[in-house]
Amino acid sequence: MLKITECPTCGSDRIKRVCKSLRREWKGTPCVVPRLSFWECPACGEQLFDPAAMRKMEAHRPRNPKTEKRAPRCVLTRCPSCGSNRIRRCQRDWRGTFKGKPYFVPGVEFHKCPTCREEFFDRTAVRRIAAFSLIAGEVFSAK
Ligand SMILES: [Zn+2]
Ligand SMILES: [Zn+2]
Repeated sequence: MLKITECPTCGSDRIKRVCKSLRREWKGTPCVVPRLSFWECPACGEQLFDPAAMRKMEAHRPRNPKTEKRAPRCVLTRCPSCGSNRIRRCQRDWRGTFKGKPYFVPGVEFHKCPTCREEFFDRTAVRRIAAFSLIAGEVFSAK
């Protein structure tokens, strides 16, 4: 398991793993994640989350955050690679690595062409993956 012994923000060695309900805002909508395990620094208030915690937060995210604007969806009807019209939208959890450390993005939507097996990720998906990889990078930057 990921182990953090020094706060990446203030350098305090008092940072410790805690398990408690976390109140946070998700795009302006408050939500509570019960019994979440994460690291907290009592010196500066920094909180760090590992992929398991991120997954749990994602699961407790409000369904329809009020302020969330629906990004225009990219809909492909023809495969840009082979021209097949069998291309369809699907969803999969994304596992990637950032600076050599793994991270996880639940439910990324993308297009997949069954003819040439090409996969296409739109801007929304890319942005989402980038956001998660940055969070992961932050978490894992603490050795
Ligand atoms: Zn700190
Ligand atoms: Zn294709």
